[in-house]
Amino acid sequence: MNFYAIKNRSYKVDFKTAALSGAAPNQDLYFPENLPRFDENSLAEFENLPYFELCFRTLKNFVDSISEEEFYELCSKTFYFEPSIYKIEDNLFILELFNGPTAAFKDYGAQFMASIFEYYSRNLEKEIVILTATSGDTGGAIARAFYEKSNIKAIILYPSGKISRLQEKHIASLGKNIIAVEIDGSFDDCQFLVKKAFDDEKLKQSLYLTSANSINIARLLPQMVYYIYAYLQLKKLNKNIVFSVPSGNFGNICAGLFSWEMGLKIKKFIAALNENDSFLKYLNTSIFVPQATKQTLSNAMDVGNPSNFVRIKELYRDNYFIIKNKIEAYSINDDDTLETIKKVYKKYAYILDPHGAVGFKATENYLNNSDNKDDCVICLETAHSSKFNDILKEKLGIESLEPESFKFYEGRENKSIKMPNSYQKFREFLLSKKF
Ligand SMILES: *Cc1c(COP(=O)(O)O)cnc(C)c1O
Repeated sequence: MNFYAIKNRSYKVDFKTAALSGAAPNQDLYFPENLPRFDENSLAEFENLPYFELCFRTLKNFVDSISEEEFYELCSKTFYFEPSIYKIEDNLFILELFNGPTAAFKDYGAQFMASIFEYYSRNLEKEIVILTATSGDTGGAIARAFYEKSNIKAIILYPSGKISRLQEKHIASLGKNIIAVEIDGSFDDCQFLVKKAFDDEKLKQSLYLTSANSINIARLLPQMVYYIYAYLQLKKLNKNIVFSVPSGNFGNICAGLFSWEMGLKIKKFIAALNENDSFLKYLNTSIFVPQATKQTLSNAMDVGNPSNFVRIKELYRDNYFIIKNKIEAYSINDDDTLETIKKVYKKYAYILDPHGAVGFKATENYLNNSDNKDDCVICLETAHSSKFNDILKEKLGIESLEPESFKFYEGRENKSIKMPNSYQKFREFLLSKKF
């Protein structure tokens, strides 16, 4: 399939190019030229497929330069983990997306992108160098996804002392082809260094540099599949289906909206926001004004100017009324987030993480409207609660057990490269190729 640049629609590339380059020229985003449509019959065929096969059947419509046999093999290796569905009430479910190796939904996108990069790198002359800055969770998912992938090095910059111990461990303890760089500065400083490197012609001649950031279409597309999966499981209830998505950069919800356009029968999407509510203000006024980022407990959603908003506008031809009709938004503050974690724990013995709690509270608000009370809502839980034990223990006295998958990190020593916040030093390091 071809992908076009949103601001320059005549600029089209194949999937391989879109994936390996990440963004289109001038910071533009790629968008699929057409979405496949699954009718009732094909959806019925999907019903009892293993998860990786559902991924294969969905994603093969988008990829190119890879044979079906090889792509099947790639999917079976990539999606060795799958979502689970937890029933809270007869019409209220949690779609658990934390079963991947770093216990966050970002594993779905990161693992697929890494497999695709490894496959396409076979025909490249140079090894691929992934350069990315992280404020926390993404870095861990990227590090683990690219770990031991051949022909690829991943260089991950993170701000010294500003990420949690667990996050640092997930980035810095792997070694081999994963190079953790601890910058004496802020997340913005890390991002600035990465941006500058991408603008540096000499560097780009010397290294095959590419980014792994969340606007990469190869990270977005695999996120469609768990919506289809949950839909197939719960449509038997014969109720209106609604998804509630804890949203920051709007990549996750955008993938869900894609799946809707591909033939699922869904009533509504809930965009669950923390106090970074520029999208809610857009729905209320039809005018989108980017905001400065506010810090909250659900920090992976602290985004004032969501980068995938332009993709949502593109999907609906920038028709405000369609968008308003399809998506409802709720903004949840930190107090209500904590209150929700406590309440759900007491009532259902289930521990939500702060991001999932925002989605849960938004769902309660939605169901309080009498028009919606009989709908079946599927709340996405985007991270495992144990990743936020610091907050849970301090504020609520709750502690969540770590998932089995974290055993992988036990006994590994962090080995990051410490660096001052200096582009010159960072550039020398990259040019030396001593990594
Ligand atoms: C990244 C992230 C989100 C937000 O997802 P977007 O695709 O950016 O909207 C929500 N929850 C968690 C735990 C995340 O890591």
